[in-house]
Amino acid sequence: MRNLKVIFIVAICVCSFNQTSEAKPHRKKPKVLFISIDGWHASLAEEMPAVKELMENGSWTLEAEAPIPPITVVSHAVIFTGAVPEKNGVVRYEPKRVKDWWPLKVRTVFQAVHIRNKKTAAFVQKLKVAAVLPSKSVDEFGLFRNKKKIVDNACAAINSDEPVYSLVFAHIEDLDATGHEYGWLSPEQKIAALSVDKAIADLAYCARWSEKKSGIPVVMIIFGDHGGHRKTHGAAIKSDLQVPWIAVGAGIKAGYKIKGKVRLLDITPTILKILGQNPAILLPEAEGKIIKEIFTR
Ligand SMILES: [Zn+2]
Repeated sequence: MRNLKVIFIVAICVCSFNQTSEAKPHRKKPKVLFISIDGWHASLAEEMPAVKELMENGSWTLEAEAPIPPITVVSHAVIFTGAVPEKNGVVRYEPKRVKDWWPLKVRTVFQAVHIRNKKTAAFVQKLKVAAVLPSKSVDEFGLFRNKKKIVDNACAAINSDEPVYSLVFAHIEDLDATGHEYGWLSPEQKIAALSVDKAIADLAYCARWSEKKSGIPVVMIIFGDHGGHRKTHGAAIKSDLQVPWIAVGAGIKAGYKIKGKVRLLDITPTILKILGQNPAILLPEAEGKIIKEIFTR
């Protein structure tokens, strides 16, 4: 009888130990899902319900700064490297053949994550975005014209148990396409903004589902690569340079309007901080800074 009592007590201890370790998912290093909304003018964010909900649950600004000139390749080179155009090698877009254009002179966030033996995935809607993304540093890559395929693949990657992707990138181009065709802030672009909003909502749902299933937190960073005016962009003016920027997830302040300056340059160092890595060691050439004020501690 006494032996049975001992076994029972030991069983309770083992059980409660297991429960305790399962009840602390926040101790696991987060994954990051970062989403670039091509041509996202800051004014459009106010009309996107899912985006507004993410702002209420995260840290945000509508005044993040794109680099000069505010065009897709220059912005994405800055986003991926955390280094200014003069240093990362992409100061303009002028390749004869995009496929042969591998211009980056410094390491990207994908390569930095690889140094720590973590896996990455990227899904883009434009070939020229892929051109500033070193292919070998991305374990899973997709170039899709169809936005749904971008969402489905990014969702599958963030939910993948084998392999586990620590960093997943998704690029959505609708707003840029409708901006060039109908004009920035045109009724047509505002309708496209609702469709992009739905894609963001789907990705947010995937991130929360993945967290529930695996216990690994997923932090999302969503931003525009540039804005626009009339039917173009690329000028050093507020409508082209200012973009929305939102971070949401475990360890990020909720409903917090960021007070300090945020630049696209700061995305990569902030991602590495979330992943528990030191950007000063992994990306010594990056000028971007960690956006410290978004963290709860
Ligand atoms: Zn464009």
